[in-house]
Amino acid sequence: MKLGIIGGEGVEKYSLSPVMHTAALKACGLKGEYRAIPVKPEGLESWLGIEAPKLDGFNVTMPHKEAVYRWLKENGRIGSDIADSIGAVNTVKVVEEKGVRRLVGYNTDGRGFFDTVGDQNALRGKSVLLLGAGGAAKAIAVWLAEATQIGSLKIWNRHLERAEELAQKVNTLQTHCRAVAVKDLRAVPIEQMSLIVNATPLGMHKHEESPLDFSRLRKGQAVYDIVYEPRETRLIAIARKHGCKVIRGDEMLAAQGAEAFDIWTDEWRGGKPVRVDGKFIREIMGDALENEIKLRAGNRQDA
Ligand code: NAP
Repeated sequence: MKLGIIGGEGVEKYSLSPVMHTAALKACGLKGEYRAIPVKPEGLESWLGIEAPKLDGFNVTMPHKEAVYRWLKENGRIGSDIADSIGAVNTVKVVEEKGVRRLVGYNTDGRGFFDTVGDQNALRGKSVLLLGAGGAAKAIAVWLAEATQIGSLKIWNRHLERAEELAQKVNTLQTHCRAVAVKDLRAVPIEQMSLIVNATPLGMHKHEESPLDFSRLRKGQAVYDIVYEPRETRLIAIARKHGCKVIRGDEMLAAQGAEAFDIWTDEWRGGKPVRVDGKFIREIMGDALENEIKLRAGNRQDA
């Protein structure tokens, strides 16, 4: 199988996807490769038209997720309603239709979040605080409103207008969830939130800390930090100390990867019982990720 990930400059250095997918291909006994491919925004259209059909499937990362979605609406197909609600694509499958190679787009980021957030029934009707309004936050917000059926969503973002846009988008979905943008995190009743999600790079290696007042976290709340480097962010460490249920970013990364792998390899596995609910591939990917993140952290300390 020919697989890969397209991203901006340096994707071959920072992306963890090649490690995860190479481990999954090997574990399933599938011959193939998964390469990181840098594509400049000005070269995206011609890459999608000429190079993409030569692959069997690929992931899409920053800064191309929304541009690929728009291109597929004109020149390919969107394979799931949720990718339409989100307006961004992170997974593309190449299919043969009447002798023509066509690109079909999906979004597995939100699914990866949903699969790892824990007891979704316990979140129904509850209040959630989301930090961030970028691509990942958008996917998470749509899944929280549509699939998890939360009752209310407060969205904080560095640039307030993006939080307002996302809140508006959530409020146009046919769900019971009411979303609002919040300007000042100090005014949010953190103690009353059932789930707090960080979908910004705050707390990531080389980034500043989140403005969230960690001392207001309470036992019984769930805290999800989608940052995966470091594996254990300060938010996760403090939330754990407060008795919160914590979910790390590498869990979402492995789950969204497993979902993409399932989309691509469905027929290639030839009925092999390698995966029933994604757990097998997710574990393989999670182990590969853990090793690679530790290796990178060790290399940084040596440097
Ligand atoms: P994106 O579309 O570029 O959005 C970035 C978001 O982070 C925006 O809300 C942006 O706020 C905010 N932000 C960036 N720098 C900031 C800063 N210095 N201070 C405060 N806010 C800041 O990126 P994305 O794809 O949503 O990714 C966001 C983070 O999630 C990244 O760290 C990425 O690695 C991680 N991620 C993890 C997974 C996973 O599976 N675990 C999946 C996807 C992404 P503004 O709108 O104000 O610029």
